[in-house]
Amino acid sequence: MKNTEETSSSITKHSSPSSTSTYEELHEVIEIEPQEHERVLNTNSIINRLSVSRKSNRPSQEKKRSTHRKKYLSSWENDAASFYLSYYYDSLGKRHSKSICWLYKKIDKNNGTITLGCRLCEQHDMTKNKNGKDNTWATKGFNVLALDKIKEHRLNEKHKEAERLEVERTSKSQPDWISTRTNVLSQQQESIQNLMYSCIHLCQNDQSLNSFSPLCDLLEKVGVKLLPAEVSGVNYRNDNAALTFIQHIASVLHIDLVNKLKNSPTLGEYF
Ligand SMILES: [Zn+2]
Repeated sequence: MKNTEETSSSITKHSSPSSTSTYEELHEVIEIEPQEHERVLNTNSIINRLSVSRKSNRPSQEKKRSTHRKKYLSSWENDAASFYLSYYYDSLGKRHSKSICWLYKKIDKNNGTITLGCRLCEQHDMTKNKNGKDNTWATKGFNVLALDKIKEHRLNEKHKEAERLEVERTSKSQPDWISTRTNVLSQQQESIQNLMYSCIHLCQNDQSLNSFSPLCDLLEKVGVKLLPAEVSGVNYRNDNAALTFIQHIASVLHIDLVNKLKNSPTLGEYF
């Protein structure tokens, strides 16, 4: 009996368990199956975990890429890196400094592409970088929208040069009153000096003072700086003006000569 039971159980193990198998046998079958299934599940979970860890690596790369491909943020225009120093003068001639934002959002008219532009580099025509490549900030616009790129551009050699030129230009754009007056005076002095040289030339060559006016016209045409034909209603380019200049030059020379004679050790006692 025992033998037949054993054989029957062994048969049932390998054949269908549902037919004549005992509870124990069934339990065995049930126990085996979940273990295998579990193993499969475990491997699956490893694969899942691997794919998760792979995915977790991927976003960091995507993140890196995404930080350089963001939208234009108007808050960038408030960042300290987006400003340059400039000067201006008030109506009293006093100099003041101001910070101006160089960054702006550049929109392509044809395809609507948004890029970054630099007003400062554009103003100073910094279209080429030091290495000879295009400075796109001043031309078509820089196509990577990111704050770190804005900070990087501020350190660009050409941008720095534009900053220097801006300070130089604006701080001297309106010199103070004294230097302006000195400059104007020296220009007028030069013009009067040239008129006087012309008079001296006429006298030294025994020419009529009437030729002073056409001589002035000629000199003006060849680029010599002269006083305008009329200053506040007075004409300085006729024979009368020439005579006045000559008389003035003569009186100055006379005073000069008298002083020299007075200071002379041999002739001084006669004056
Ligand atoms: Zn720039």
